[in-house]
Amino acid sequence: MLAPFTQATPLLEMIEAAGYEAYFVGGSVRDSLLGREISDVDIATSALPEELKAIFPHTADVGIEHGTILVIYNGVPYEITTFRTESGYSDYRRPDQVKFIRSLKEDLKRRDFTMNAIAMDRTGKLIDPFNGKQAIATKQIITVGNPEERFGEDALRMMRAVRFVSQLNFTIEEETLNALAQMPHLLGNIAVERKLTEFEKLLVGPSNNKAISIIVQTGLFNYLPGLIGNAEGVNRMARCNLMGLSKLELWTLLTHQVGLNDREASEFLRQWKLPVKQIKQILKILQWLQYRLDNQWTRLAAYDAGKETMLSAEILVQSLTGLKTSSEAELHKFYDQLPIKNRSELDLTGTILLSWFKKKPGPWVNHYLRLIEEKVIIGEVANGQADIREWLNNCNQKLEKD
Ligand code: ATP
Ligand code: MG
Repeated sequence: MLAPFTQATPLLEMIEAAGYEAYFVGGSVRDSLLGREISDVDIATSALPEELKAIFPHTADVGIEHGTILVIYNGVPYEITTFRTESGYSDYRRPDQVKFIRSLKEDLKRRDFTMNAIAMDRTGKLIDPFNGKQAIATKQIITVGNPEERFGEDALRMMRAVRFVSQLNFTIEEETLNALAQMPHLLGNIAVERKLTEFEKLLVGPSNNKAISIIVQTGLFNYLPGLIGNAEGVNRMARCNLMGLSKLELWTLLTHQVGLNDREASEFLRQWKLPVKQIKQILKILQWLQYRLDNQWTRLAAYDAGKETMLSAEILVQSLTGLKTSSEAELHKFYDQLPIKNRSELDLTGTILLSWFKKKPGPWVNHYLRLIEEKVIIGEVANGQADIREWLNNCNQKLEKD
């Protein structure tokens, strides 16, 4: 068993010693069978939340209404969830009723896909009533039970299916895929925040091209913010080389490929409820991507874009054109040779300017600062007060002569 499991085994033993059942479940069991690295291990138990609190003196209620409590053990937080069934789903997204139960099998049955419905006991033995292991071996995403019913209960599962395609490079089993293609409209009932979580995992997954194509094929795109009716735009994204792109670069590329003007781009990202700071970064990369598609980098452009943005814009040009343009190392070098990297490095301030010229403060100060900044960046004036002053004096004399 992998270390994250063995480290948590004492928790299972404590719960069992108190007379209940406890197992590892969900993503960690699936990923360990796949030989993938595992992060957090989730535990499911027959003990009720109150019964767990009697076993572990220090717990936090993270989702007590769903039967989840948090136990810190050796400094590591573990989510322990009471076996439960769900029923109702009159709104296609949240169960009307959650019922705690004592049966592991019933708990596994409420889970989304067979690969996610495998339990492992403290000795490493698998409890796998829905043949999840087989699905993992054949790399298939299959709902537990009837796919139409399961997607009808919680439409987010459709998004989860596609994000697992991206993360695991699995395929969606035929019946499950058919159901998905028949009911994309149910996604309309799902909160943007929940779609965003799954969509971002999909974007950054290693098989993102394949997953994005499925979003188009199944019609899911019609129920995602800002993509409605834009199969072409999403397909353009699916055809790009997405390898090695960061999350922000992927958002920028998507925004570019769906063909939005600046105002629409900002609206698109706000509809997805991305954090304001990220929206700003994405719009900045987009602006410089558009610049770079028509121009080469100049010193001034590199300075104004900043290093990170320049590198991002360049890698996106390569994704879009398929051409290997400047290498990252070349761009680093180009940028690092700039005489200054931001205004604070300029050997001049507004106050100094005011002391040189006997003029009242006004917009001219900023205008001059920018002018000198530009001259310094292109190497026409050295970045030192004496040189700058001399240059300014020469300009003034010239102005007076003209
Ligand atoms: P990840 O590695 O991304 O965390 P995961 O499979 O652990 O993947 P989680 O969202 O952490 O996904 O959910 C944990 C488990 O809870 C899943 O493996 C699955 O068994 C169950 N689950 C999560 N979301 C749903 C859902 N919408 N419907 C049914 N079961 C779900
Ligand atoms: Mg998980």
